[in-house]
Amino acid sequence: MSKEENLECSFCGRKKAETDLLIAGMDAHICDKCIEQAHGIVEEEITEAKSSTLSKDLTLKKPKEIKDFLDQYIIGQDETKRSMAVAVYNHYKRLLQTKDEDEVEIEKSNIVLVGETGTGKTLVAKTIARMLNVPFSIVDATVLTQAGYVGEDVESILSRLLQTADYDVEKAQRGIVFIDEIDKIARKGDNPSITRDVSGEGVQQALLKLLEGTVVNVAPKGGRKHPEQKFVEVDTKEILFIAGGAFSGIERIISKRLNMQAVGYSASIDEDQVDEENLLQYIIPSDLKSFGLIPEIIGRLPVLSYMNPLDAKTLRAILTEPKNSIIKQYSKLFTMDDVNFTIEEEALNYIVAKAVEYKLGARGLRSLCEAIFTDAMFDLPSSNDKEFNVTKAYAELKLTKSALKKLRAAS
Ligand code: ADP
Repeated sequence: MSKEENLECSFCGRKKAETDLLIAGMDAHICDKCIEQAHGIVEEEITEAKSSTLSKDLTLKKPKEIKDFLDQYIIGQDETKRSMAVAVYNHYKRLLQTKDEDEVEIEKSNIVLVGETGTGKTLVAKTIARMLNVPFSIVDATVLTQAGYVGEDVESILSRLLQTADYDVEKAQRGIVFIDEIDKIARKGDNPSITRDVSGEGVQQALLKLLEGTVVNVAPKGGRKHPEQKFVEVDTKEILFIAGGAFSGIERIISKRLNMQAVGYSASIDEDQVDEENLLQYIIPSDLKSFGLIPEIIGRLPVLSYMNPLDAKTLRAILTEPKNSIIKQYSKLFTMDDVNFTIEEEALNYIVAKAVEYKLGARGLRSLCEAIFTDAMFDLPSSNDKEFNVTKAYAELKLTKSALKKLRAAS
């Protein structure tokens, strides 16, 4: 026998002739069959390691703990925080579920939040992502178009998520996507259009699969500007989608429905109990349909919640109470220059009053503070003053009519 034929696999002992391939190492050989088997073991180990890190990362927080976390950053909006906490809890239970014999498969609990702009929809979604330490991205539904039209394809949603996950596909696949202004892709008019509705229904159709869970070829750099890039496969079945929109005018739809219910015998809410000031609290999925979302989309956003409008009391709390409230942020900025920053209660109330008067909402609070504190932030770092106390008079002095006008124009 030649020396060559004498060779055997050092793992299974097969002779060279019994193998398709025998690869030589330093002092050993390995056959194709053993390579295949070893490969299988490696794959299995990796998947196991991944799923165990998945469960380790996702120490499932109970809804109450989730809500407690949200409470640190978001004022009020209790009902939404509760339903979000349950939805997120269920979503991550779903991720951790093992395949049962009973074949009960938990479906996704994507969420839709309805509420005026500036009421904290993005903040809620962002805070959830922060708590779970998962990638988070925001997309504006208005820039999306159905494939083949000018604008961004719905797949671009995933390019962005992939970017925030540092191109780690596994990580991106467990992320959260906030789709802003979902109301802007509502069908115009209640009749399904005969001509194609580029901006509305087509996009909704394109979004369907993504929301439900599908494998999408994603251009990591996004857009069509990099034709040379390799596509990456992203599975959306474990991505949590949170959609938000102002749905302006939906109150009319709700009110009409409530009135009709009150006339018929099926009245679920007594007419005199209806809080006309905040009709959003009575929202049900069929209202979204009347507004122009297609039933399939509504079906894939099974958790529906609403944001309360922000009154003066809430705005006042937003200024100082959240863990990273605006005032706490300014205080930190001044402390970094060794300046002791204090603000009087009257001054805080004055800022809130102006936000209400000029309808600037929560976003306006920051602009108002910026207008009041900018001079001090310019001067104090190079002065010997180590105290900065803001009184109502000081705030009034800095918030001139023209500054306010500018803020209103910008809001
Ligand atoms: P939306 O997405 O509804 O338009 P945002 O989440 O962007 O509103 O809110 C705008 C800003 O207002 C946030 O950055 C946040 O500072 C503040 N804000 C709004 N609502 C709240 C709230 N309930 N609690 C704390 N801050 C809030």
